Amino acid sequence: MARGNRTLSLQKHERLTKGSQKVLEALANVKNLSTAQDIHGLLRESEDSPPGLTTVYRSLESLVGLGLVQAVEFGDGEKRFELVEPGEHHHHLVCERCRESIHLDQCMVEEIESAIRAKYGFETRAHILELFGVCKKCHS
Ligand SMILES: [Zn+2]
Ligand SMILES: [Zn+2]
Ligand SMILES: [Zn+2]
Repeated sequence: MARGNRTLSLQKHERLTKGSQKVLEALANVKNLSTAQDIHGLLRESEDSPPGLTTVYRSLESLVGLGLVQAVEFGDGEKRFELVEPGEHHHHLVCERCRESIHLDQCMVEEIESAIRAKYGFETRAHILELFGVCKKCHS
């Protein structure tokens, strides 16, 4: 995903609250998935009047609702966030040794969803999928 596109999509959302804008900017500058605490920490370093942790949580929630940010659960009780192209999502391979995560560029769940629809007549609205294991670097 190119940085240029991200900057463009950020500019389209000038009507966001100040807090949300700052959270978006912070997320645009980090490479890794960040927790609300991480983002709060970053803003405290870079801003003269950083938003409080509650504002950061609230901003993240509304950005997720707008489809600009994706929330990821790694099963450790803490949500992590990252910037995505508006309305898009992706899944991760999480290494349990080095905790690094690989971003999958393709959602393979759609095939499963259509199989489910055919077999159970069930219309899926959302799905969560992260895969846990050991990455190439750690098992070689
Ligand atoms: Zn690893
Ligand atoms: Zn990702
Ligand atoms: Zn998916």
